[in-house]
Amino acid sequence: MRFLILGGGPAAIAAAKAIRGREKKAGIIIATEEQAPPYLRPMLNDLITGRLDVSGIADPQGEDLAEKGIEVRRGNRAAAVDPAGKKVTFADGSAESYDRLLIATGGTLPVPAAWGKTPPGVLPINTLEDTLRIQERLSRGDRAVVYGPGFLAIVTSSALRKRGCEVTWFRPDMPRHGYPISGELEANILDSVQGTGVEILDGIDIAAVRGAPGGIEAVPKGDGPPVPCKAVVLATEREPAIDFLAGSGIRTETGILVDDLLRTSAPDIYAAGDCAEIRETKSGKTRINFGWRSAILQGKLAGLNMAGAGKTYAREESDYVWVLIGPALLDRIR
Ligand SMILES: Cc1cc2nc3c(=O)[nH]c(=O)nc-3n(C[C@H](O)[C@H](O)[C@H](O)COP(=O)(O)OP(=O)(O)OC[C@H]3O[C@@H](n4cnc5c(N)ncnc54)[C@H](O)[C@@H]3O)c2cc1C
Repeated sequence: MRFLILGGGPAAIAAAKAIRGREKKAGIIIATEEQAPPYLRPMLNDLITGRLDVSGIADPQGEDLAEKGIEVRRGNRAAAVDPAGKKVTFADGSAESYDRLLIATGGTLPVPAAWGKTPPGVLPINTLEDTLRIQERLSRGDRAVVYGPGFLAIVTSSALRKRGCEVTWFRPDMPRHGYPISGELEANILDSVQGTGVEILDGIDIAAVRGAPGGIEAVPKGDGPPVPCKAVVLATEREPAIDFLAGSGIRTETGILVDDLLRTSAPDIYAAGDCAEIRETKSGKTRINFGWRSAILQGKLAGLNMAGAGKTYAREESDYVWVLIGPALLDRIR
């Protein structure tokens, strides 16, 4: 039996280990586009504050993969999936066949299409490489614009403040996945962020980002003046990274639709983590994941099921969707 896993994050690693637990001899391959060895994505902001360096965010879960006979191939992006031929084609033109496939490609932070072609300095905070670019571009005293509606924008604004940057946070009204922070907790968090000196432009969207003397500027929708800055850091909701599935016939909505066993609409293909959209059989609701621990839980479950366990996922509505790692949000701001 040959198991192929796309993506090298917590869902992928947990799945590979769960498969190995049941299938001692099977071939297990993790194929991911990032070059970096596994790292703790939720700690990326600690690189920005300077609390940790790259070695300090290594993911311990990734350390014993070779020992467990799990092969990891890095730096190659899956470009297409052929469910009928049971084959994945990669960006470099190579192809890999599988008996069971897991898609665990996580999320991405695309530049809003409405902004058109943007100048250098529009930087998502999604990967290690992205974060090193932000570190390089922004120093103490520089103004950063942060763009996003929720969790990622909160932690990124706070981290940039701790770096010594001046921060303007555009907080547009846009849909949020999972269980967005709301009510009194949200109000407390916004107060705390503001208390650290972040300027919050609540409900204001960015129409465009354009070049300006000494840097760039974010142009608000409506009447407000442009905000000159050194960088616009994209910290929007992670969108499932599934563009390579176009034409595969695998059913997607916002994410890859999966059932309670984390099976997609295609035979022998599963999905887990931030790229998956789980339809709960009982309630009919669908959910997109956000959270390190829930990605691990989903990955483990998908791996067990790929190896024949037949376990369903939902016990509680919140299970496997919004289980975070890291300190409480308010503690990260102070
Ligand atoms: C800045 C930041 C801060 C966060 N903070 C927290 C936090 O404090 N607490 C928390 O619990 N969660 C946090 N999260 C969310 C958490 O990191 C995710 O929920 C979790 O990483 C999802 O795991 P995953 O395995 O589904 O996908 P990911 O960790 O996203 O991994 C997917 C991997 O697949 C790769 N990939 C994508 N497309 C392809 C392709 N076509 N071919 C091959 N490989 C591909 C990606 O490059 C990536 O390496 C944060 C996320 C970010 C970006």
